[in-house]
Amino acid sequence: MTTHAFALRPISDDDADALRRIGGPIYTADEFPGFPCRQCLEDAAIGEELFLVSHDPFDRDSEYRSSSPIFLHRHACQPPSDRDARLPEQLTRRQLSVRAFDGDAMMIDAAVIDGTELEHSIGAFFDDPETKLLHVHNASRGCWAVTVERNAAD
Ligand SMILES: [Zn+2]
Repeated sequence: MTTHAFALRPISDDDADALRRIGGPIYTADEFPGFPCRQCLEDAAIGEELFLVSHDPFDRDSEYRSSSPIFLHRHACQPPSDRDARLPEQLTRRQLSVRAFDGDAMMIDAAVIDGTELEHSIGAFFDDPETKLLHVHNASRGCWAVTVERNAAD
């Protein structure tokens, strides 16, 4: 998803492929929603298989740097289109922890929100010019969900 103000950054295709090669425990989705894939940003349909893997969404060192459990569809999938102007339901139907980082990857703000508030919350965090990007996690289990970047044109 891209708006005038921000862009969602799911796990990169390269990182997702590398994690699939390493593999991990395989889950078969037996409820919907309940198994959110962090590449296509869709909840797996019942019967679809996913790997549980550990992903580090940071691109630089920081005291906050850590890996997070995530699901990936077992077979390669596609990130959502940049032209999709809608936040994925995977995000809007969950309680989320939104963490704001500055250019040194230091956390400068954070909030637990209802997913329906995500778009508003992203805008509020980016009102602070020090905010470089946001990490969105599931509030309850802590799984990283997506990174949100300021649009370069913003
Ligand atoms: Zn997927």
